[in-house]
Amino acid sequence: MTSQLSLDTYPQQLEQLAKAVNGRCVFGAPLVEHSSWQIGGPADLLIEPESADQAAAVVCFARRHEIPLLVIGQGTNLLFDDAGLRGIVLKLGHNLSRIAISDNRITAEAGAWVPALARKAMLAGLAGLEHTIGIPGTIGGLVLMNGGSQRKGIGDNV
Ligand SMILES: Cc1cc2nc3c(=O)[nH]c(=O)nc-3n(C[C@H](O)[C@H](O)[C@H](O)COP(=O)(O)OP(=O)(O)OC[C@H]3O[C@@H](n4cnc5c(N)ncnc54)[C@H](O)[C@@H]3O)c2cc1C
Repeated sequence: MTSQLSLDTYPQQLEQLAKAVNGRCVFGAPLVEHSSWQIGGPADLLIEPESADQAAAVVCFARRHEIPLLVIGQGTNLLFDDAGLRGIVLKLGHNLSRIAISDNRITAEAGAWVPALARKAMLAGLAGLEHTIGIPGTIGGLVLMNGGSQRKGIGDNV
């Protein structure tokens, strides 16, 4: 995804955002490091927020300032352009990967690793996520695409 916008278009906004956010912020972040295919040029600003509130604040900020925003997980289903990506990449990973199980209900943050989620469900005696055990990404990415296997989609479980 590329556009006519560039860091020059909104440098102050991005600097302001990076100062306000709790979490890792990298200007000119090489997307090659965030793609399982190991391709892609730099993103104007990559943010790995430390909490869901911070992630929500980044989304609100991007919308308010009309800055392009891409939410990613582990980048296992993305092909980034060598030219890079203008705007903000919001990466939801380890910081947002808590999984809680109560009775037969699983609550998972978007960055939870899918095989870990399936394994926790199995250890808790819960069936239904077997079809996701070998999928190497986050639950956020899986839900966005309604991914799955064995003719099942994660939407069957959500
Ligand atoms: C070897 C291999 C095997 C695979 N096998 C399968 C399979 O059997 N079944 C299957 O369905 N997929 C499979 N995949 C694809 C992929 O691993 C899964 O779909 C995975 O769940 C994607 O998660 P991700 O965190 O890597 O998402 P990403 O690749 O980072 O993102 C994928 C899409 O989801 C969006 N997205 C990611 N996280 C969020 C979020 N939190 N909120 C909103 N949007 C978000 C991104 O913008 C993007 O559009 C496979 C991939 C590989 C490399």
